[in-house]
Amino acid sequence: VLGIGVMIEDITDRKLADEERGRLYREAQEAIRVRDDFLSIASHELKTPLTPLSLRLATLERKLERGEHVDPATLRHARQHLLRITGLINDLLDASRIEAGRLALHPEATRLDSLVEHVLQAMEVHRGSHTVHFERPHQPLLVRADPYRLEQVIANLVENAFKYSPDGGTIHVELHQRGDVALLSVKDPGIGIPPDQQKLLFDRYFRARNVSSRSYGGLGLGLYISRDIVERHGGRIWVESEVGRGSTFYVALPLLVGATAEPPVEQPDR
Ligand code: ADP
Repeated sequence: VLGIGVMIEDITDRKLADEERGRLYREAQEAIRVRDDFLSIASHELKTPLTPLSLRLATLERKLERGEHVDPATLRHARQHLLRITGLINDLLDASRIEAGRLALHPEATRLDSLVEHVLQAMEVHRGSHTVHFERPHQPLLVRADPYRLEQVIANLVENAFKYSPDGGTIHVELHQRGDVALLSVKDPGIGIPPDQQKLLFDRYFRARNVSSRSYGGLGLGLYISRDIVERHGGRIWVESEVGRGSTFYVALPLLVGATAEPPVEQPDR
């Protein structure tokens, strides 16, 4: 907000040719429009889970006052709406940390295969009617990574696979070693991404034109945050997709060299 204010003052103060001043004004106005659109989408996204949350809490309050039985499912649903709001706020905070160059990483030797397993287990509750098939590597895969941030990347890819695929679809998660790299893929049978939009998905706030905010909620921040995290681990993230057939997201991370998760195999004496 301040940035745009300063930009407009600057345009007014500086001695510029009319043409240049006009161009800068148009750019500032476009920046204001993008900001306002974003604020309206973000407020709407944050408000959507608040209404059912507030209704469920009111029901609980009434039942408790009357001494009636409280269904644990009501509490569980209330918590899920709360988690959704927390997730959105965390994404907004992470995105601004990235912009400010202040997203801290705490890397350590991490077993990627166990990490993926753990994320998939934690996401069971969000699976709905989808099936998840995990193809594990034959050996433990060690990377040097911030486990919390990598979990965030994997969870985001799996969440998107659920979100953008029809009910009942099967999501294939694969993890393999390819030379000195660990390659993770998340494949869904979903709506796919138009070819000209595939490179833009990792940009901040970008949402492809085949997703409307009415049918699929979201802020367009998950992949932006994921790309930053993956690249700062020396890795790469990309997508292959076909509209109407599905998408496969790939993450390649350098394997930790010189460390093994298993004790070395003893060589027989010569
Ligand atoms: P969000 O899902 O909140 O919009 P993301 O940054 O995670 O934010 O994704 C950005 C965009 O990429 C989405 O809006 C959607 O257009 C597209 N996208 C991401 N994952 C998939 C997927 N598995 N299938 C189809 N489109 C996807």
